[in-house]
Amino acid sequence: MSERSNWSKDSWHSFKALQQPNWPDGQELQSALATISELPPLVFAGEIRDLKQQLAKVARGEAFLLQGGDCAESFSYCTAPAVRELLKVILQMTVILGYAGGKPVVKVGRMAGQYAKPRSADTEMVDGVELPSYRGDMVNSSEPNPEARRPDPQRMVKGYFLSCATMNILRAFTRGGYAALDRVHAWNNEFVKNSPQGQMYERLASHIEQAINFMRVVGLDTNMPQLTQASFFTSHEALLLGYEEALTRQDSTTGDWYDCSAHMLWIGERTRQVDGAHVEFFRGVHNPIGVKIGPSHDIDDVKRLVSTLNPDNEPGKLTLITRFGIKKIAEGLTPLVQALKKEGFNLVWSCDPMHGNTYTSSTGLKTRNFINILEEIRAFFEIHWQEGTVPGGVHFEMTGADVTECVGGGREIMDQQLSRNYQTMCDPRLNAEQSLELAFQIAEMLRE
Ligand code: PEP
Ligand code: MN
Repeated sequence: MSERSNWSKDSWHSFKALQQPNWPDGQELQSALATISELPPLVFAGEIRDLKQQLAKVARGEAFLLQGGDCAESFSYCTAPAVRELLKVILQMTVILGYAGGKPVVKVGRMAGQYAKPRSADTEMVDGVELPSYRGDMVNSSEPNPEARRPDPQRMVKGYFLSCATMNILRAFTRGGYAALDRVHAWNNEFVKNSPQGQMYERLASHIEQAINFMRVVGLDTNMPQLTQASFFTSHEALLLGYEEALTRQDSTTGDWYDCSAHMLWIGERTRQVDGAHVEFFRGVHNPIGVKIGPSHDIDDVKRLVSTLNPDNEPGKLTLITRFGIKKIAEGLTPLVQALKKEGFNLVWSCDPMHGNTYTSSTGLKTRNFINILEEIRAFFEIHWQEGTVPGGVHFEMTGADVTECVGGGREIMDQQLSRNYQTMCDPRLNAEQSLELAFQIAEMLRE
């Protein structure tokens, strides 16, 4: 058991917590949190340790991290088809990166709890009316009226149960045969099949199918879990500290504390202050932790952050998710990588090419351009190659649906076409086709 000095699961209460909702006064919040703290954990310590070991391989360059899902999950996405469609694309990307790129892929969904969002302001103007900002389905509703926008602690209880239901169907899909590699063809979406990416995927899937068949022909057992099951982990931005505390439990075998709301948690760009409540909370739990780092970071601050969150310099414990944007990555990432390499920190470096590349399209919708996303990933790889560090993974906002939220890609979505199927609750996501296209491009980089 490695105890962190002066840490307890509620020690964060004496630090400043940014981005917390204005919960109603009175007992409502305490009673919702008391309910959650009595309920079973969503994941177990053993699974969390397994992910940490897999991430240690990523840190050494022996595996690649693929983290992805919605910007904000909606309670209404908790259906078997919605979960299946996103999982399918992640499995397809895994096959592309694994087969064409030659690296085992560690799969982490922004799923089963990605229900809380940081916002730039407490209120927003909607049709001339000032309303509390939407802060994610676990806080309030996105409906633009004052009653719906009132933060309601019972939404955390609902969020817990929907995370549970999502987790359950994910476990069923990944362990119960759906993710078996001899089903690779079945993961290709109808609306993607005829695109060049869909066709490339079909060819690759046929090779895999033939390889598995050949194993059978020569008498090898193809019933092993490596071929019939997928390991899949969950993650979300750990923003609502009361919720995270209520799901933090002491492991009976090691005595260590784990935040059992998801396997991996990340701290957002807006809440990663070294002396803030989020960092205080996460320095004590033994989960793998991610931290978003954007262009406005201070290098000495990041060094302190790394030492605070990973005091034992354990490989796989800490993932720095950089999100500079195409314009700032060269000037921002290079000195950061150099400085942290000099300290000898064991880190997973992951690239979020979404959040630094967001802009408002000519038609007024928030979007991202496929080419900027791709170019930021390429720059990320090149900088790490140059510095002798490992470009360990990517972090995407994506969906299995046929949405039109990011411009560009093989189908060359233009500003005027964004409104055709613009669905997101928050930031614009890659659709299934754009996601596959990126996976093929990254596979090339992995082989270089
Ligand atoms: C996000 O991942 O949706 C997010 C808000 O990111 P960041 O903290 O990097 O802005
Ligand atoms: Mn986002």
